Amino acid sequence: MISEEEARAKILENLRPLPARRVRIDSRAPIVSGLSILQALDCFAAQDYFARLPLPNFDNSAMDGYAVIASDCRSGARLRVVAEQPAGVDRQLCLSPGETIRIFTGAPMPLGADAVVMQEDVARGGDQIVVSVDVDPGEFVRKRGCDLAEGQKILAKGERIRLATTALLASQGFAEVTIGGEVDVAIISTGDELVKPGDKIKQGQIYESNSLLLQGLAQRCGASVRSVEYCPDDRDSLTEALKRGIQHDVLIISGGVSVGEHDIVQSTLRSLGAKIDIWRVAIKPGKPFLFGRVDKCAVFGSPGNPVSAFITFLQFVRPAILKMMGAINLDLPAAPARLLVDLTNDGDRPHYVRGKLEDGKFTPVGRQESHALFGLSQSNALLRVAVGESLKAGEIVDLQIWDS
Ligand code: AMP
Ligand code: MG
Repeated sequence: MISEEEARAKILENLRPLPARRVRIDSRAPIVSGLSILQALDCFAAQDYFARLPLPNFDNSAMDGYAVIASDCRSGARLRVVAEQPAGVDRQLCLSPGETIRIFTGAPMPLGADAVVMQEDVARGGDQIVVSVDVDPGEFVRKRGCDLAEGQKILAKGERIRLATTALLASQGFAEVTIGGEVDVAIISTGDELVKPGDKIKQGQIYESNSLLLQGLAQRCGASVRSVEYCPDDRDSLTEALKRGIQHDVLIISGGVSVGEHDIVQSTLRSLGAKIDIWRVAIKPGKPFLFGRVDKCAVFGSPGNPVSAFITFLQFVRPAILKMMGAINLDLPAAPARLLVDLTNDGDRPHYVRGKLEDGKFTPVGRQESHALFGLSQSNALLRVAVGESLKAGEIVDLQIWDS
């Protein structure tokens, strides 16, 4: 049995980011030209990106109103409207004292103007306005580059592309973005006792739920789940299922990795030439976890108990998938919280306690056993309690957030 730190390090050192790919704007769909950059959502940038343009790209008005020279725009001032400057075209207008130019949101500032008075603060009659407020220089003017300077880094290699990042890329005119490789995943749920939800169940059988859990977790990482199958605990069926599974970048097998006579996953993998790098990790729940490789496929064997499958996915499979996708940060989001109960770990493995984070407070929920799916369903965060650690109610602890 190895420690979880060793296991994680061993897995990660065995895996490389997959080749990067480009997502281009689809020229056949100009109206939704941002759409394909959206395909990069939750993927990871495969290179650094820098601003090509300052934001804003030119001084412009933040309001519908009148461009003015602030120093001649005190409350009560009367100004002559000499021109109009709409958005979308720069009329290269120039403003002299005593004059004003009608201007609209996003329109370029006329030369000589240093402020905008919003239309709600003027009374207009013919080509005259009377201003009802004092105006300071710079008021309602969005200065060139005030949001973003040209050349500034907007996205770092390995950083997750979030929704607002796609908008930023589009605002910079990027028609394509290079992202980390697509990780395609197969899932095999093993067990003679498994029945598909919706089918009739007999005494002694259980409904299969791990494939759903693992599929959802893999998709949340941004992986593409291409195949999900069930397999009984017989060597021939398993051999065939594994042969199909190892065609993918990642194969996640649920069940059959423990020490019983029906736990034939490891030996069947070996018969297919797998190199097993890890079997059994000091983690609770999830001790029988297995990691190996067959050709280019990374194979993860997760224990069949649902909470074990869940925890080992988050601690070992998730970082592996993220690394393959080109991510830099492989950790789950963390947050501090006030612990509401005493917790002690007298065992010989670090314990991932499932609980609920609410209003900055953390309470364990449900039975803390590896089969206890109901408790997991009520949980949104994990607290790792190290071997021998004793935590007191009221302490601030660091949580791993898995459901925000
Ligand atoms: P195993 O790791 O195959 O020994 O299974 C451990 C426990 O997890 C047993 O109680 C199984 O019935 C249960 N189990 C195994 N696979 C699944 C699955 N796909 N969905 C739900 N429970 C499972
Ligand atoms: Mg089994």
